[in-house]
Amino acid sequence: MNKYLERVLIDTEKKNPQEAEYLQAVKEVLESLEPVIDAHDDYEKNAFLERMVEPERIITFRVPWMDDNGQVHVNRGYRVQFSSLLGPYKGGLRFHPSVNQSIMKFLGFEQIFKNALTGLPIGGGKGGSDFNPKGKSDNEIMRFCQSFMTELYRHIGQDVDVPAGDIGVGAREIGYLFGQYKRIRDAFEGGVLTGKEIVYGGSLARKEATGYGLIFFMREMLKAHQNSLQGKTVIISGSGNVAIYACEKAMEYGAKVVAMSDSNGCIYDKNGIDLDLIKQIKEVERGRIKEYLREHKDAQYIETTNEDFPVWTIKADIALPCATQNEVTLNSAKKLVENGVIAIGEGANMPCTAEATEYFLKHNVLVAPAKAANAGGVATSAIEMSQNSMRFSYTFEEVESKLNQIMINIFESCKNASDKYGCSGNYVAGANIAAFQKLAKAMRAQGIV
Ligand code: NDP
Repeated sequence: MNKYLERVLIDTEKKNPQEAEYLQAVKEVLESLEPVIDAHDDYEKNAFLERMVEPERIITFRVPWMDDNGQVHVNRGYRVQFSSLLGPYKGGLRFHPSVNQSIMKFLGFEQIFKNALTGLPIGGGKGGSDFNPKGKSDNEIMRFCQSFMTELYRHIGQDVDVPAGDIGVGAREIGYLFGQYKRIRDAFEGGVLTGKEIVYGGSLARKEATGYGLIFFMREMLKAHQNSLQGKTVIISGSGNVAIYACEKAMEYGAKVVAMSDSNGCIYDKNGIDLDLIKQIKEVERGRIKEYLREHKDAQYIETTNEDFPVWTIKADIALPCATQNEVTLNSAKKLVENGVIAIGEGANMPCTAEATEYFLKHNVLVAPAKAANAGGVATSAIEMSQNSMRFSYTFEEVESKLNQIMINIFESCKNASDKYGCSGNYVAGANIAAFQKLAKAMRAQGIV
């Protein structure tokens, strides 16, 4: 490996010994940049990589809140303001008990590259809390969000840092966060958060954007290999925001989705998933996916019993991991390849372990990498910000058509970079190289800051 790359990797490992997910994300990016680093001998002198892997700022804070029984709880809040090279920090908030600094930093790091690929003026950041929203009442969620924002408000702003949703943070949470921000600031700054409800400044098609964008990217990738979604069997992990709208668009393109999941298990319906029922269970009732069986008695439910998600044992042409990081293990990758999978579309962030990705690429399975394939969500968030600035709103069709074009452009950038640097068909490397080149250009232009 290039000596400069190797040194930065070792130093990053030494500095962040406890941060497995963050180190995994950095390693994946740095390793694929070798041909670019080889071609630029001034990167080392100007510490391009060292500046790329060190967040501009990490904020952590206490979030006290009271449950409905009067019991007080304390959670930890985070905001990682990773890079403002291309615009205000931008990236979602995750509420999940697994949240820690490593996960926040890996997500923030990925976000810089993803946002660069969109071609829109947004920097990279991420935040959240180890708060578990599952089983909490609406009032408890509201009190938590208000307490969280009472600290976060001083660090964000529509030209400074613009959070959005992620796991455990949807329109309900964004609403409570926005209300508290507005109250403290005594000003209606619509562009400070994205993923808002339409009535107070949200964008049409934002809810659908990540899932739809994933399928637009998949369509382009398959087209480049003389293939399409028509008639393909698809399995999807998760049944949240990304999974539901990926399922919707995949069906629109003539694919048959036969499985979806949640953290307890997966359902397999050989007749094709009844998406209206999934939406009812997940978006309205906030229930468990197992309840799918109440209307489809011949569907199967398989419980998750270890780190290998059962959904990946179901035979399919295309697999869309849309739940969480490292959900596709090497074991699962082997099973998918054995079952004849032709393409993986990463809806979640870093859903495949490094070994799983390597295995897919070695077996000529196409991989649509998260940074590129799920960038439709943040791209549409940037479109929401511009609508807020203009005090104007686009129609659903206008936003969807902009999203479609952005995803076509992202695929082209990944393809061109992979062709130019001798790794044709490896869109994982292509995405990293294409994004890095934009960031390096901005870094050079802005001097040592
Ligand atoms: P949601 O909270 O809406 O849904 C998450 C889904 O994944 C749920 O079905 C959840 O099941 C499942 N899940 C979450 N964590 C785990 C886990 N540890 N093990 C098993 N299943 C799990 O989140 P989103 O759909 O918004 O996000 C999903 C992924 O997509 C994340 O990786 C996120 O970072 C990424 N992403 C999201 C974007 C967006 O616009 N929302 C944009 C780009 C990326 P359960 O309900 O049982 O917990």
